[in-house]
Amino acid sequence: MAISVANQLDVSSLVSSLNFAQKVERSLGLIREARDEFGDGLVVANSLGKDSLVVWDLAKRVDPLIRGFIVTTRFKPKETLDFMEQIVKRYPELRVFSNNAPIPEDLPRTDPDRCCEILKVEPTRQAIQEMDVKCWVTGLRCTEGRTRTDYQEIEQRDKDLLKLNPILIWHEREIWQYLALYGVPVNPRYAKGYRSLGCAPCTQISQGADERAGRWIGTSKCGGECGIHTRPIKGDFQI
Ligand code: SF4
Repeated sequence: MAISVANQLDVSSLVSSLNFAQKVERSLGLIREARDEFGDGLVVANSLGKDSLVVWDLAKRVDPLIRGFIVTTRFKPKETLDFMEQIVKRYPELRVFSNNAPIPEDLPRTDPDRCCEILKVEPTRQAIQEMDVKCWVTGLRCTEGRTRTDYQEIEQRDKDLLKLNPILIWHEREIWQYLALYGVPVNPRYAKGYRSLGCAPCTQISQGADERAGRWIGTSKCGGECGIHTRPIKGDFQI
């Protein structure tokens, strides 16, 4: 059966009606179906955060040859860069993209939307184009925060590009359950109390219901999005 954006589901009901093991099976099934349909055009976006690590591990269980990409920036903390090096050494099929164009040093504070557009969205577009991606796989979860409640497991936001969100219905607790059960190494920044990881100037330790509340604190973007899930990803662009 072809993977399709038709027959969209009430994902919020699945969040509470399926147990952990059922969610793992559902996620593996979605990735398997997409791999069967898109072959090498199925590519995983890996942010090196806890959710991406679950998706990457699930994808490797479906087919060890599935490729992926990481978008990094000059503002990533040292622990994240060290962790990235370890992961890429282990999985050479993960390509790293970044944009080293000059920008004002204070751009993260003065215009974080522009900064994310240059340092995160543009390299994501480059990855999608260079790797000839037909369907990209993300670690989006609908329980992560206020900006993530309206997604679907299979989406089409760009022409000729599908997006698969195979762990959309997982709780934060189930992410940690999976990582512990399957012995998946995580970024050491979690041990310091961070719940959502990003660039150093824009990420703080936070508590409370919203996992992403520590992102972009003190700006209009607080708890928001970098743009890779909200802006066009395929089309004319220039790095
Ligand atoms: S998270 Fe902050 S530093 Fe990183 S690209 Fe966005 S605005 Fe710039």
